[in-house]
Amino acid sequence: MTTPAALELEGLGHAYGDVTAVESFSLSVAAGEVVCLLGPSGCGKTTVLRLAAGLEELQQGRIAINGQNVAGLGFSAPPEDRSVGLVFQDYALFPHLTVSQNVEFGLTGIDGGDRRARCDEVLRRVGVADLADRYPHALSGGQQQRVALARALAPSPPLILLDEPFSGLDSRLRDQVRDQTLHLLKQSGQATLMVTHDAEEAMFMADRIAVMRDGHNVQTDKPDALYYEPADAFVTEFFSDVNRLSGIVEKGNVYTPFGNLSAAPMQDGQKAEILIRPEALRLGPVPDGEEGSARVLASRMLGRSSLVHLCTCRQIGEEIHLHARVPGRFLPKENEVLQVSLDSTQAFVFPAVLS
Ligand code: ATP
Repeated sequence: MTTPAALELEGLGHAYGDVTAVESFSLSVAAGEVVCLLGPSGCGKTTVLRLAAGLEELQQGRIAINGQNVAGLGFSAPPEDRSVGLVFQDYALFPHLTVSQNVEFGLTGIDGGDRRARCDEVLRRVGVADLADRYPHALSGGQQQRVALARALAPSPPLILLDEPFSGLDSRLRDQVRDQTLHLLKQSGQATLMVTHDAEEAMFMADRIAVMRDGHNVQTDKPDALYYEPADAFVTEFFSDVNRLSGIVEKGNVYTPFGNLSAAPMQDGQKAEILIRPEALRLGPVPDGEEGSARVLASRMLGRSSLVHLCTCRQIGEEIHLHARVPGRFLPKENEVLQVSLDSTQAFVFPAVLS
């Protein structure tokens, strides 16, 4: 017998009055899997999470948790009957309860001693056991986030729903808390659906990412597949800056100043947009007897990589401004002419969107 998905969302549709927030949205989260909902502001991420939690009444589609239908066909189980743990941006701890009382609050149906033991265990796992008797106002943002997570994990629900759980933390603390949270979720084996608008955060946390746009699920896959095999220009650009060129398909290829790219399955004569990640441009010295393909406009050290602003040389066609990202320290001088080649695994060709 196959294990049921921890969460099954099928054909969800939801509108607030005239505003369609989610449309034909389907996604499944397997037991023990961390899936991120990623997309720009207003694309419907939080609505999907609220529908899964039962905080919004389902208008269209079906929701099942651990193989049990919880919403669909005019039926909607209330949040307390859905066995989900919720962590929202503001953590929403009860201010008048201590840390341990906050965590024990959700442990109904367990008698006193066991409840206390479970609470202690979860607080230890999230690394805040020493704060058990403090009140929320006396905790830092990172500590509050961990207590909120402990409260969600404590009843061992099959599914944890996280809505931008790290957004209130400063960048250094965020990295640390993200790392701890990831290991905790993977150890606990509970399935997780997490909302974020930050592509790097989604790639850090997720086994799979569902990229959303205008209420739809555009592409769901492993981070590596989304990065190297994006479905369209929107997904490509969501994961990095891109250099954007245009072209016409000829003999199955499009021309770029640094080499041709396959345009399959597009037809000859079709207009194409070409998206080249900055790290796809490989820079090197101009070989003897050759002219070089780009001139340096500026070079900037960004820490882990260097960013080189380039302009394609006039002899190879229209001048185009490009960004190249090179690992480590690479700072060619202004006006230096370089040879540029292309890593075709990080350059993508799509049919041009007609405006
Ligand atoms: P963000 O990243 O900014 O939180 P989101 O991707 O989570 O955005 P939602 O909060 O799900 O997006 O909103 C989707 C759409 O529904 C948006 O156009 C939003 O303005 C609208 N919306 C959300 N909640 C309500 C509401 N209670 N009443 C009316 N419209 C709403």
